[in-house]
Amino acid sequence: MAKNTPQAIRGTQDIFGEDAEAFAFVVETFERVRKLYRFRRVEMPVFEKTEVFARSIGETTDIVSKEMYSFEDRGGESLTLRPEFTAGIARAFLTNGWQQHAPLKVATHGPLFRYERPQKGRYRQFHQIDAEIIGVAEPQADVELLAMADQIIRELGIEDVTLHLNTLGDADSRDAWRGALVEHFRAVKDELSEDSQERLEKNPLRILDSKDRRDQAFVADAPKIDDFLTDEAKAFFEAVTSGLDAAGVKWQRAESLVRGLDYYRHTAFEFIPDEGSEAASRLGSQSTILGGGRYDGLMESLGGAPTPAVGWAAGIERLAMLVGEKGEPKADVIVVVENDDLLNQGIATLGKLRSAGHSAELMASGSPRKRWDKAVKAGAETIVALDMRDGAAHVRIKAEDSHRETLEGLLG
Ligand code: ATP
Ligand code: MG
Repeated sequence: MAKNTPQAIRGTQDIFGEDAEAFAFVVETFERVRKLYRFRRVEMPVFEKTEVFARSIGETTDIVSKEMYSFEDRGGESLTLRPEFTAGIARAFLTNGWQQHAPLKVATHGPLFRYERPQKGRYRQFHQIDAEIIGVAEPQADVELLAMADQIIRELGIEDVTLHLNTLGDADSRDAWRGALVEHFRAVKDELSEDSQERLEKNPLRILDSKDRRDQAFVADAPKIDDFLTDEAKAFFEAVTSGLDAAGVKWQRAESLVRGLDYYRHTAFEFIPDEGSEAASRLGSQSTILGGGRYDGLMESLGGAPTPAVGWAAGIERLAMLVGEKGEPKADVIVVVENDDLLNQGIATLGKLRSAGHSAELMASGSPRKRWDKAVKAGAETIVALDMRDGAAHVRIKAEDSHRETLEGLLG
């Protein structure tokens, strides 16, 4: 490497080879399945005004308080590289009048940016697949989204990952629970981590989300949301769980699961590898692969009319780590030009093959006599070689009998 070469930015990745194939497999599977569920594609800007994120995600969250890439542009406006999709999609829903399309099911994928401590499965530029249903207050939307997430994970061949499900209740349940949590944690305040002492004042629910050992004993015996659920909130959650059972989606109740963001109501969920499983060991400590929930309060925080919505996002890199080796595919056919006078004939043959839908490569450099052996070594099932015999072009085909006829038809 040249001494002078600038290095990549810490926490970014140059994804190549088998890793890139696994990444593409995740995106392709997502694209296929989202069409089965009739989600429409959206393409969103990579940056937004900072307030889009600050107002919807919440000032006290880790994302807004510590992780955003914010900067002033040349016009003096504060902009932020998107740390998540939901806030931008909500902004677009309001500014484009997408209310007219409600109920709206949308899906997207792409890069996100968070200033975090880089480690395995955690990057500063990472990628997500994302799905949202906007304008549906009924629990069937939650069920449909979770069924789609479950199908994507199964079609990726990922095993030993379980849906952990909780409810945060409606506004009334959440307020009552919040009060009880504050009381519970205030009694042991001095023994909590510094972060959680701060959360106690600003956002006590998030103490439940703490990964700090000092907090975990107190989290275990904290008041449970179930004791505070209104009848309505209870009925909502029951509709979600019975819908999941009907859809054949396995789930597990996770009473302390809260999501880091302020905007969640009712359903909150994460797909997490089972403890001790192969998947868990591959991901190390960065274990959650997919997370989301219902965010009925978000549109109002952006100045819109109350609009129920639910969504999820999953890290493409973390999913790709679990799909395992995706070898780079071999070419269906290699066209070997054994005499350089036949180069253009080789190029024409290559074009015919590719137009007919075969992946094909040309072998026309290096010593002509070694090209055939190189093609065999490259492992192509089928080789088409062009050579001169008695002053005329001669075609030699190495192929399974079933392929030979199609090829002769195509090239003849
Ligand atoms: P974590 O608890 O791991 O920080 P999170 O709750 O911040 O995750 P979300 O905002 O819910 O994550 O994003 C959904 C998914 O996006 C995560 O489950 C994970 O797969 C992925 N993800 C989030 N942050 C990163 C990151 N910095 N690098 C790679 N993937 C990430
Ligand atoms: Mg995070």
